[in-house]
Amino acid sequence: MDPFQHILLPLLFLLAIRLDTKKAMLFVPLTVLPDFDALFGLHRELGHSIIPMVAIPMAIIAYARFRKSEWLLSALIVQFYLASHVVLDLGGVAFLWPFVPEQFFFEPGITFGVDGGLDFAIVLDYGMRDMPEMETTSFLSDAGVALLLLGALMTVVFRGEVVKALSDAWRFAKENLLEIVAKLR
Ligand SMILES: [Zn+2]
Repeated sequence: MDPFQHILLPLLFLLAIRLDTKKAMLFVPLTVLPDFDALFGLHRELGHSIIPMVAIPMAIIAYARFRKSEWLLSALIVQFYLASHVVLDLGGVAFLWPFVPEQFFFEPGITFGVDGGLDFAIVLDYGMRDMPEMETTSFLSDAGVALLLLGALMTVVFRGEVVKALSDAWRFAKENLLEIVAKLR
């Protein structure tokens, strides 16, 4: 999955349930954080394993639940964003790295054919395999381009709504994100 989809899909889910727009925007860079493990030559290992993706965020959730309840929603959003990355990468991640060096993959699908009558079939491919050599990977894949085209189509059909949403988003960014950045300094 390309970075564009890693960012856009979980963000749209959180915005759709109108959770807390400010926090959803603030933590969204975490959706692509795991892929920076490629910088260490440990792509889909270091940043995609159970320790950073589940154990550490769960510890933060537990801490928030018992000690700092005002952190709880943030901690849950952090866990959702990190876990979303692994879920979207299910085609192959070394989830138990460094304990198990192989990657796990899960590639389910339902096929549909009309050859000789209606015919549905469930194809389930899963298991473990050696980590492939790191090759060139798409920065924007065909599915990412399809999502962009969907956005362009939406803009053509719902011009008024899109302009309003963008101006709302811009106002929101000006009012909140600058304030958050100022606070972090
Ligand atoms: Zn990844």
